[in-house]
Amino acid sequence: MHCPVVVLGGGPGGYAAAFLAADEGLDVTIVEAEPRLGGTCLLRGCIPSKALLHVAKVIHEVDDLRENWGVTYDGAPKIDVDKVRARKDQVISNLTGGLANLAKRRKVKVIQARGSFVDSTTLALEGDHESIPESRRITFDHCVLATGSVPAMPPVFDIGSDRVMDSTGALKLVDIPETLLVIGGGYIGLEMGSVYAQLGSKVTVVELAESLLPGADPDLVKPLAKRIDKLCEGRVRLNTKVGSVAEVGDKVEVTFEGPAHFGHEQFDRVLVSIGRRPVTRGLGLENTKVVVNARGFVECDASQRTADPHILAIGDVAGDPMLAHKATHEGRVAAEVIAGKPVTFDKVAIPAVVFTDPEIAWAGLTELEAKQQGRAVDVEVYPWAASGRAQALGITDGLTKWLVDPETNRVLGCGIVGSGAGELIAEAVLAIEMGCEVHDITESVHPHPTLSETLMNAGEVHFGTATEIY
Ligand code: FAD
Repeated sequence: MHCPVVVLGGGPGGYAAAFLAADEGLDVTIVEAEPRLGGTCLLRGCIPSKALLHVAKVIHEVDDLRENWGVTYDGAPKIDVDKVRARKDQVISNLTGGLANLAKRRKVKVIQARGSFVDSTTLALEGDHESIPESRRITFDHCVLATGSVPAMPPVFDIGSDRVMDSTGALKLVDIPETLLVIGGGYIGLEMGSVYAQLGSKVTVVELAESLLPGADPDLVKPLAKRIDKLCEGRVRLNTKVGSVAEVGDKVEVTFEGPAHFGHEQFDRVLVSIGRRPVTRGLGLENTKVVVNARGFVECDASQRTADPHILAIGDVAGDPMLAHKATHEGRVAAEVIAGKPVTFDKVAIPAVVFTDPEIAWAGLTELEAKQQGRAVDVEVYPWAASGRAQALGITDGLTKWLVDPETNRVLGCGIVGSGAGELIAEAVLAIEMGCEVHDITESVHPHPTLSETLMNAGEVHFGTATEIY
């Protein structure tokens, strides 16, 4: 069977590439191992985690009402974990059902099978679904490789116990354990740790580096670290390595090695969230000209072309940042390239968001990158304590900062910590992409009183005209 355009993997990269290629008039087939389209993002990533984080945020807000506004509800919240799980699963079903319809409407064929390359233009299909052709092989002119990533689980943690979970296991929300250890203080660990802590677990976070969210701007991390420490009642262990993990009865015993924490402790469950690895193994890439780099990512150029002229790569398998919107955009580029358009992707402002409470978001150049590049930047910071809206909401620990080119006044980067930072960063992405100068932002009228004003106010700091308090 010949399929002109094949997309291997039906996550946010793969389905976007497939739909856009179909919109370009191409004949497209998705090969996806799972029964539903959606990939990590919809089935076990972005969407289920955000559904659960919504519950966590509302619980936090009710606690805040009680502590700070004199509004009380009777007793502690009662959590029906089955109902929370069912609601999260319903959200996933709604979205995956929508994807199936979008595929149908565009006449994109979906084969449910595990694909691997026999050569540069042939995929072998494994599985028993009726959509698999009898020959169990398809040939193609172009293949978009979009196999994504899976949680990294080093052998030391992989002890075959369902008490030791990866992010997929944690999102299943089997129960609310009394005690949970989160290994890894990156965004997935902190998001899931926050969910479990707000649902009632006593959460401990252990991180090898000296701060949470290693690599992120310390100014942004600071307010979040404070909140996480409060949520975990002081059980955040930095500079600490987990030496061993073993199941002991109905507990998991973990040893810690660090200057401040040494010895062992038992937990009801452990979440391992130490990163993700791209899916390249078992794909038969050695039968193609595709090159995989030392970090396991498929090498590709700015048009998503790999070293094999028939194969493009997008999404998590094609390199950092491993984010759904990056995958989707690369999918768009790949589709247009296959349709013959001269398209490249200049990754100047891919936003990153940590959906904790408070949220952290950044886009474009960071201070750390500026330092590494030896590039002079003006850093303009507006503390949310000076924002009327932040005061009204009681979220004054946030801040908004711009990184500005001192010679051209162009905005190069933006960082925000505070409630809704993930929504607010979109304005910064547009400004950076459009090559805006600071006055373009300060002279655009922002609605009052909103947190979006802090973007304008941080710009005003550049000219020394920021008003302190409204
Ligand atoms: P994936 O979504 O991983 O999809 C790959 C697909 O390929 C899968 O469906 C898989 O079954 C299929 N596949 C693999 N191998 C084969 C094969 N041989 N044959 C057939 N099919 C195959 N990103 C954000 O931007 N925002 C967030 O808030 C966010 N939250 C996250 C929370 C969690 C807990 C996790 C784990 C991830 C989160 N991410 C988030 C990351 C995001 O999910 C990924 O960046 C995104 O899903 C990558 O898309 P992709 O299309 O490259 O791959």
